[in-house]
Amino acid sequence: MVIKVREATIPITEIEQSAFCQTDEELKSKPLEEELEAGVQWQKLPISYLKMSPEELDTRIFEARQQIGERLVVLGHHYQRNEIIKYADFRGDSFKLSQLAASKRDAEYIVFCGVHFMAETADILSGPDQKVVLPNLTAGCSMADMAQIDDVMDCWDDLQNVMGGDVTPITYMNSAASIKALCGRNEGIVCTSSNAPATFKWAFERTGKVLFLPDQHLGRNTGSRLGIDTADMLLWNPFKPMGGHTEDEVRAAKVILWQGHCSVHTRFSVDQIEQARSNHPDVQVVVHPECFKEVVDAADLNGSTEYILKVINESPPGSVWAVGTEVSLVNRIAQENPDKTIFCLDSVVCPCSTMYRIHPAYLSWVFDALNAGVVVNQISVDPTTAEEARVALNRMLNIV
Ligand code: SF4
Repeated sequence: MVIKVREATIPITEIEQSAFCQTDEELKSKPLEEELEAGVQWQKLPISYLKMSPEELDTRIFEARQQIGERLVVLGHHYQRNEIIKYADFRGDSFKLSQLAASKRDAEYIVFCGVHFMAETADILSGPDQKVVLPNLTAGCSMADMAQIDDVMDCWDDLQNVMGGDVTPITYMNSAASIKALCGRNEGIVCTSSNAPATFKWAFERTGKVLFLPDQHLGRNTGSRLGIDTADMLLWNPFKPMGGHTEDEVRAAKVILWQGHCSVHTRFSVDQIEQARSNHPDVQVVVHPECFKEVVDAADLNGSTEYILKVINESPPGSVWAVGTEVSLVNRIAQENPDKTIFCLDSVVCPCSTMYRIHPAYLSWVFDALNAGVVVNQISVDPTTAEEARVALNRMLNIV
């Protein structure tokens, strides 16, 4: 028997993560031509857009947006730059924006300022005549890229052989449509960072084991929260036969965690939390559950992006918050809560490099194209994949 072993490769999105990290607090957009000098590999644009100043782009985007009018809805993920989020008709995390995409049936076009898997989900949940546009096609997600469908199918086959069907696949929203479809056709489900515990309970009512994709940390934190010992959670390395384990080890596990992670949330550490507590004795620490388990355990609170926003917005004036999530959002919460002290746990200003790829020049380009009657960068999921993914998404919507 020939055992297939692929070489481990680091997603380009992961490599780029540090391209825009800086110690300076200011994260202001520069002309696209200058941002490309960081050596990133973004979608090519007509040269005129490369040279426009941030001010020129802002005026141009504003006028183009007015011209398109109500035929368009613009969705903006919380991790987008300020220069982009100001044009969002609705802001949210990936789950909230997907629900919005499903409900805004009057708009002909949905411009999704986020990353690729979000635009795919919007396409799956929106109406058949609506067109979803991702301004920069290279805006992916390093975590989603860590679960390639061929590797996941190999893993699924191995688990079927070893466990004989006693396993439910759960995929985090942050995954490709093909992974959601695999869950849909195999009695599995999609989850978000806020409803992951509910989906685990749903799965354990059906089978004795769970395969969780693609974020090992959200999976481990969720399992722990439900009282599952970390020793009963096994990490599946897609680059090794049987994920790097014996059949007996796989058979004994309750949760199989895919070896994926978020390059933004794994920057946070227990040392940073201790430093924040030493500098600010009154500080409350809130982190996202994509962080390491030790970080989640050391924090006062943890939850989804929407949870972090809510808990800080509703805290009393004078509160002090150290936040373990994407810095563009942390800076925005700080600006919108001037009566509180709010700072990112990581002193290096390090935005999500793939969210950062939605530079204003791309937004200007797609708006101009729509006004010229041309839909560029449309994200379209093939009908079979969309149907199967919708099954897994609807299972989630039925339990939350
Ligand atoms: S913050 Fe992490 S999970 Fe979210 S888009 Fe960026 S890399 Fe992906």
